[in-house]
Formats: sequence, C-alpha cells, structure tokens
Amino acid sequence: MINAEYERSLRTAVINACQRMVSSKLVYGTAGNVSIRVGDRILISPSSVPYSELTPELICEVGLDGSVPAGQRAKASSEVPLHLELYRNSDAAAVVHAHSAAAVAAGLVTDEIPAIHYMIRQFGGPVRVADYATFGSADLASLVSQAIHGRTAALMRSHGLVVYAADLGAALAGCEQLEWLCDVYLRARAAGPIIATLDTDELTVVADAATQRGYRL
Ligand SMILES: [Zn+2]
Repeated sequence: MINAEYERSLRTAVINACQRMVSSKLVYGTAGNVSIRVGDRILISPSSVPYSELTPELICEVGLDGSVPAGQRAKASSEVPLHLELYRNSDAAAVVHAHSAAAVAAGLVTDEIPAIHYMIRQFGGPVRVADYATFGSADLASLVSQAIHGRTAALMRSHGLVVYAADLGAALAGCEQLEWLCDVYLRARAAGPIIATLDTDELTVVADAATQRGYRL
C-alpha cells in the first residue's frame, strides 16, 4: 500500500517531467504525455490541461488492464493505449511521448535513424519509424509496439517520438537525446549522402565501454 505522501511525490514527478518537456522544447501547448508505472497501474498526464496548470490531483490513474478508477478529476491522455501497450510488452517504468520538431521531420524522410552516432546505443540500436495511424488509436499503439521491438525508442510518422526507460529522468533524457540525434541526422542528410554509420559490433563495444565507466548507454 502506497502512502499519500509517496503517491503525491510520484504525481509531482509526472508534473515536473511535463514541464521539462516544455522547457526542452519537446512539445508545445498541451501536446505529448508522460507516465510512470506504479505496480499494476500507471500515473499519466491528463488530456487538454496546460502543463503550467497541473496539480497532483489532476494526474490520472489507469490500471494496466485499462481500468479507470471512479472519481478522477481529469480525463487521462488520449495516448493511454500507447502507454499501456509499451508497459505490457517491456520492463518500462516510465514512458515519455513528445512532438519534437527534428523527430517529426526525420520521420518524414526515412524509415529508420541509422547508427550515425554512438549515443544511439542507449536505445538498443538504430531507431525505427512507426507508420502513421490516428493519435490515441489501438492501431497506433500496435504499430509503435512493432517499431520499438528490441529498442527503447521509436519515431512516429507525422506525429513525434516515444521513449521508455527504467525511470522518468532517463526517459526524458532519452527524448532529448533522440531529438538531438534526429537533428544531426537531418543536418547530415541536407549536407550530402551519409557515408558513415556504426555497425552492431562497434555499438557493442560502446555498450561495454559505457558499462565499465558506469555510464547509462
Ligand atoms: Zn502525440
């Protein structure tokens, strides 16, 4: 049983993450959403509430089975199906979905962000682009689930990006880093053909080196 103070701290962490999405320019307006897993339920940002107006009471609770407790103060994000699908199919503890510009742009010109920089290792390798489906739909959740298989991140065509991680800070940092990778990719594409990518062996060496140094990659 979680006490009220701890529950409030979890909800506050979701709010802080939402506000960092805005300050990092990962989203504009009320776009994007953030969730964390707490046992057999998730806490997720509400739909259509400006991030500057969030309070702990407005953070929504949804069971991993999709059930919603009675008496909630706000309606959960429209992307609940996407978040639940990722939690059901991974060991994710936090999921962040954003509409950042470079991620959207990159998803329009490729099916995959190749290993253009060693930092892509943190996502498990090249990051695939999920085909388009309407926001909030079960089809979108399914397409993203396929695209993210074996990875911890995916781009969503004509929509945005999604990253999951073992904690909220890592998921947010992952979004920022994937957005940066997409920006680098677009610059390289604009400058000329990409002639250098890292292969699986090199990424494995990167992972080993990061582990030795205690880096999260
Ligand atoms: Zn979205």
